[in-house]
Amino acid sequence: MALQNASYEKIQEEYLRIRTENDRLYDERLKKVYADHPELKEMDDNIADLLLKKAFCALKSDEGPDAERAVDEQVAAAHAKRDEAARAAGVDPSYLNKIYTCPDCHDTGYIESESGPARKCKCFRKRESELLLKDSGMAQMLEKNNFSVMRTDIFEGETKEHFLKAVEFCKGFINSFDTDYRNIMFCGTVGTGKSFLSSCIADELLSTYHSVVYMSAKTLFDSLAEAQFSDEKKPEAEAIRDRIYGCDLLIIDDLGTEMTNSFVGTELFTIINERYNSRRSVIISTNLELSLLRDRYSDRIFSRLTGSYDILKLSGPDLRSVL
Ligand SMILES: [Zn+2]
Repeated sequence: MALQNASYEKIQEEYLRIRTENDRLYDERLKKVYADHPELKEMDDNIADLLLKKAFCALKSDEGPDAERAVDEQVAAAHAKRDEAARAAGVDPSYLNKIYTCPDCHDTGYIESESGPARKCKCFRKRESELLLKDSGMAQMLEKNNFSVMRTDIFEGETKEHFLKAVEFCKGFINSFDTDYRNIMFCGTVGTGKSFLSSCIADELLSTYHSVVYMSAKTLFDSLAEAQFSDEKKPEAEAIRDRIYGCDLLIIDDLGTEMTNSFVGTELFTIINERYNSRRSVIISTNLELSLLRDRYSDRIFSRLTGSYDILKLSGPDLRSVL
């Protein structure tokens, strides 16, 4: 499931293309503004000279921090003067700033950190998810499973009311995703809409810049086991873990269809617990009744699930035949 090197290279090439295009637009923009207002070019050239002077100051240790501070003050004053002149000329000063499609990472995909290694930006994770979805065939699944194709006319009476309530709950989950930490467990027999609603949520969150990892329980644990027990696959294991623990939303579909053994039990608890500790949401869907879940997994898993997940029980006609 981990992204292949070719996919990473593809993402890096995309960033390069975005930066090149933004630089071209920026140059074009400046050329036009400078042609109409040459005084702004003069001021910007002056700022560039001062920044160069600052770089030299930093290199020459004998001049000390005072010299650098003095240049900093000159830069700030020159900026303020340029902004004032821009406003007087009817140009919004922010229009003269460099153009970035992603203001967080400046179209590099990574955010530098003073305390540790650079971390992947949200936009990188989103692209990563999109590529993974594409590779895994999920993109097609999301085309057929999203709110725009949802039909409620197939339900009647209480079942309809119940399904609509679940839909409202899912929409609330999506809308408050960035502010409220929540988890969902969809329970119900085959075809009652568990995977459909999970897909709807995945689709909406991907479109609002979130990284989503969607895996069936069987694939999830098979991949982890394969990577865990093979030395050759250590880097792959790390990449899988990185995605499982690092994505904004993890969806585990069909819990209960995987093999039961102590490895699965430990991994499941670790995933649920780690994501709980880092306040990252999980959606689980299962055909199992709660009592069967308790029998199949350990008490600590069961209590974590019932204690920190909103449990939505779905019922009704088999949606797979009508959607
Ligand atoms: Zn970014």
